[in-house]
Amino acid sequence: YFRLLEKQNIFLNKPQIEAVRHVNGPVLTLAGAGSGKTSVLISRTGYLINVNHVAPENILLVTFTKKAADEMKTRISRLPGLTQRMANKVQACTFHSFFLTILRHSGCQQNILGSERAKQITIKQILKTMGLQDDYQPETLLSLFSSYKINLKDMPGKTDIEKEQKLIYQHYEKWKKANNKMDFDDILLSAYDLLKRSPALLQSLQRRFKYVMVDEFQDTNVVQYELMKMIVKPHRNFFVVGDDDQTIYSFNGASNHFILNFQKEYEEAAVVTLDINYRSSPSIVGLGNKVIQDNSKRRKKTLQTAKALDAAPKYCRPQTTDEEAEIVISHIKREVEEGRRSFGDFAILHRTASSSRAMFEQLIINRIPFIPYSIKDESFYEHWVVKPVIDYLSLSLDPRDFNAIEGVLPTLYINRYNGMAWIHGQESMKKKKYPLIHLVQSSDLKDYQKNKIKERIEFTRDLKDEKPLKAIRQIRQSFYDKYLEAHHDKASLHKENIKETLDELESSAKRFDSIAAFIRFTRDIAKEQKMLSGRTKADGADAVSLMTIHRSKGLEFPVVFLIGASEGILPHSSAIDAEQLEDVRVDKGKEEKVIDAIEEERRLAYVAITRAKDELYISSPAFYRGQKAEISRFILSPFSSRQSGKIGKGRIKRQTVFNNKEQPAAKKSVSAWICTSSTCIAWQRITSYKEGRLKHKDCPLCGSPMEKGRKII
Ligand code: ATP
Ligand code: MG
Repeated sequence: YFRLLEKQNIFLNKPQIEAVRHVNGPVLTLAGAGSGKTSVLISRTGYLINVNHVAPENILLVTFTKKAADEMKTRISRLPGLTQRMANKVQACTFHSFFLTILRHSGCQQNILGSERAKQITIKQILKTMGLQDDYQPETLLSLFSSYKINLKDMPGKTDIEKEQKLIYQHYEKWKKANNKMDFDDILLSAYDLLKRSPALLQSLQRRFKYVMVDEFQDTNVVQYELMKMIVKPHRNFFVVGDDDQTIYSFNGASNHFILNFQKEYEEAAVVTLDINYRSSPSIVGLGNKVIQDNSKRRKKTLQTAKALDAAPKYCRPQTTDEEAEIVISHIKREVEEGRRSFGDFAILHRTASSSRAMFEQLIINRIPFIPYSIKDESFYEHWVVKPVIDYLSLSLDPRDFNAIEGVLPTLYINRYNGMAWIHGQESMKKKKYPLIHLVQSSDLKDYQKNKIKERIEFTRDLKDEKPLKAIRQIRQSFYDKYLEAHHDKASLHKENIKETLDELESSAKRFDSIAAFIRFTRDIAKEQKMLSGRTKADGADAVSLMTIHRSKGLEFPVVFLIGASEGILPHSSAIDAEQLEDVRVDKGKEEKVIDAIEEERRLAYVAITRAKDELYISSPAFYRGQKAEISRFILSPFSSRQSGKIGKGRIKRQTVFNNKEQPAAKKSVSAWICTSSTCIAWQRITSYKEGRLKHKDCPLCGSPMEKGRKII
């Protein structure tokens, strides 16, 4: 069978063959990124069927994301010795789809409450009826509920806060029941209950799935692990592959201890290690190794490389996320236009769903085909914090914009529904030039309130000739920041998010000269986003992938852009906060177990870096949401350790970052500091007169001297 595989250019190495040939009993394959773990699962499927004559329907392969499952299916269908029909009979799926099918077969008809937004709206509603809307963030509550569920634990109800949270939880559960709905965690939990309750069903699963394999085992959570253990109990043919350095779902209950426990629970387990990375070029593997070795809690392992061709990872420090997006997109366009690459070769990876605003816009503006994997159906400009500001801007241009009027009513302390009902009920209103002023005057507010609101409306009217950035700042300073603070002052984290969101709005608005142009732009983006959000899958299409690092797990791309490699983005600010909190706890001697958030962020950086096959581009915007952002420690540290002792050696042929090949025509060039070290790739844009007058500057990455020059971006 291995000969057959070789005919298809699949040359497995010795330990891979050893793993594939291990047919009966538990196996644990622990190995670094790109070392061929998933390939082993696929080849083993073919081997079981062809050599051991296992029926395809007896094989179950489970992974985490739909895209990974789809890829597994495609790769299985290409295996030698398998007809399409046989390949289709192999169960390759995600945990959720597998258990949902089982639930459906046993009569479960509940609808899936899939989108985060739908869940948040439900929680918001519940909070409102309990009068707690200002006390909790729906997202935080949802992840709290989820963590109890997937760990198969009951919510505690000792303290007042715990009691309150438990009550919200119970309301949420009741609401779902009454409305015939379930969320993703419920799928696993209901399946767990079902299999506990029905031994006959469990037995039939155990008889059917005689060979069970799990990919990305490091990210299984308690309920997933327990479910799998139940299915493999009689035969123990449990084959798992994973990489402890790629655990990126600790917040979701995944924990490395499953890997450790596996060997305890399955004492007879064979352990196979793979240590050659076949995916990435040597420098990329080297950078991945360097980044991850700073984690203290890990099994030591260093990946070897197999590829001969090499290109050093490239680094760039744009000023803002908008400039970063322009650089990335112009690079992609140039590569495609000049025939070196096609759109499908590129992936742009970002840390959080909300950190891709600028990139998303540039892709749309430049009409680049792309698949937005992590897109929400609400655009940034429709966010509840942002929308009223946009509405005030709209009203400054058109006081009769009724949609905008509706949007600003709550900020004027007028109930949205009543206000609009009143406006629509008044025939005379249709002719009034300033409907809002009339509404305020005719409502039963106190005089001083009316005057204050009138003042504000007039203030809005005066904004119309301002630049959008200045107008937004004025709106914030004169009342909006205070308004938001008064309404959402209970959750401090929330307040920070609000500020960041408005800062992000300012960075976006900075690019426009007139309010009209900015508003037009926000509307176009919202429209595009609505259209794109329905299009979650476009497989086979030649398109750039835009996704969060979490989503990219297990995947690979010829060219990867890791954007937002700045402190506060990656590592995420919440991890930096947690790190500080942890120090305090240790000081106090409390033995409280906290997730080591920074180490998890470092693993995310490792996952992102190791997705790249041939080329890797890393960029760290100097400003993020209005704040100065230092270069990510994950990028700084490997460079500074490598450089020590070598400072200033050799001069480089001036390389254009993000543009390593000879380029015929410069698109746009900026004056910049460029590092002179031959091994370092840093450069920094010169933005101020003061910077330009400096005679000397050291490289922020490696400490070597930098020289002034021009960079094509
Ligand atoms: P990750 O940790 O990111 O999930 P992985 O360990 O699952 O990675 P694979 O996706 O299986 O790694 O393999 C990475 C790349 O290496 C794939 O392109 C695969 O085709 C290739 N590959 C795997 N094994 C070999 C081999 N023995 N010879 C050549 N190429 C290989
Ligand atoms: Mg894999």
